[in-house]
Amino acid sequence: MELKDTELKLTFANGAGTVTGANFLLEGNGKKFLIDCGLVQGEKIADELNWTDFTYDPHSIDILFITHAHIDHIGRIPKLIQDGFNGRIISTIPTRDIVQVMLEDTAHLLSHDTEHGLKDIYTAENIKAAMDLWEGIEYHHVVNVDHGFQFSFKDSGHILGSAMIEIVYNGKKIVFTGDLGNSPSPILPDTEKVTDADYMIMESVYGDRNHEDRSERKQKLIKVINENYKRNGTLMIPLFSLERTQELIFEINEMVAEKSIPEMPIFLDSPLAIKLTRIYKANSKYFNKEARDIIASGDDIFNFPGLKLTEETSESKAILSVPNPKIIMAGSGMSNGGRIIHHEKNYLPNPNDTLLLVGYQSAGTMGRLIQEGVKKLHIQNEEIPVRAHIEMISGYSGHKDSDHLVEFVADTAKTVKKIFTVMGEPKAALFLAQKIKDNLDINTESPMAGDTIILDCK
Ligand SMILES: [Zn+2]
Repeated sequence: MELKDTELKLTFANGAGTVTGANFLLEGNGKKFLIDCGLVQGEKIADELNWTDFTYDPHSIDILFITHAHIDHIGRIPKLIQDGFNGRIISTIPTRDIVQVMLEDTAHLLSHDTEHGLKDIYTAENIKAAMDLWEGIEYHHVVNVDHGFQFSFKDSGHILGSAMIEIVYNGKKIVFTGDLGNSPSPILPDTEKVTDADYMIMESVYGDRNHEDRSERKQKLIKVINENYKRNGTLMIPLFSLERTQELIFEINEMVAEKSIPEMPIFLDSPLAIKLTRIYKANSKYFNKEARDIIASGDDIFNFPGLKLTEETSESKAILSVPNPKIIMAGSGMSNGGRIIHHEKNYLPNPNDTLLLVGYQSAGTMGRLIQEGVKKLHIQNEEIPVRAHIEMISGYSGHKDSDHLVEFVADTAKTVKKIFTVMGEPKAALFLAQKIKDNLDINTESPMAGDTIILDCK
């Protein structure tokens, strides 16, 4: 089909009808742009689907724009490079720094994969090639591309560096939201407002649900830490290394300073989380004003008495001999790998110890089994009884909930012609689309992967 000069074609290559695997192709006036290139993540770190061919020719793409450094938005970049992509890659400056660490970590996780030859795609060469093509720019800096396109980033408040992408063509504005942060965050600025979009492609992970009140979460955390301390136990927190970890350290730093929890050894036992926390420290100019003021007053917000960073395996193993009470924060967040497994093996059988879940646990993971209350687990071929206290705090989500997604859209209700709800399970995406239609009288659609639509930019 021949496109008119005033039309753009948008293909939901992936990341539609599903939460992960964000990958959108926008083309028109002789140009092709990709927005995000993420891994599809199911029960395994990476689904089979990821290693099949792209539905477009990677070599034909002019620019790949990246909204943020979560692996479901960047994880297929090595494959894109392998298959011939040689264009520009553009993101914010902090995203570029985080991406390098995230891709190297994923390469390490996939290095044992012989079944799909993933280690041949996730090579040091492909990662280096991607980083060589990568340009980091500031928020609000306008990138002019010939053939009449303008691009810029707005802060989405989801993780450090996270951005919405605004594309202006023929005077019309198309906004890809990426993931939208659960503002206010203790560290990041609030999601910026969008008031003048013509089309919006928005996330819908929590399109059909609202979160637990976020003000309660700190009180709950203080309670869990103090109860574990009184029992003289070990408190384990399976961690998501990016953002959740830094928020948690920030809040524990406050608790120690306010003396709402006693001083005790607290281990950050994750090489990835330690590396990412260093990147956060180096990019504090992107934090919100409150966090910047605290830093300016001389407080190191990611350090406090008792915090110990255990990067080496030998240091991690030595935690076992440190007397209780203590806290261990380690990856992975769903207990489907990483150092937390070893700690769970050691401490889950003890009724004085505690396991605290602070994030979503997907079906099929060990974290989900623990959440569901199983009494026995198989860890590394050993049967482990679960006698420790199991606690949950759900207020730490990094995504806007249903009501806040609608509130975000309301700012641009006057101008927007159509909203596409993506990056959510079909139930959540459809629910949000209907809610926006009902509350704001905006035309909406919930596309599925592979769908193509024409955006009229007359
Ligand atoms: Zn994300």
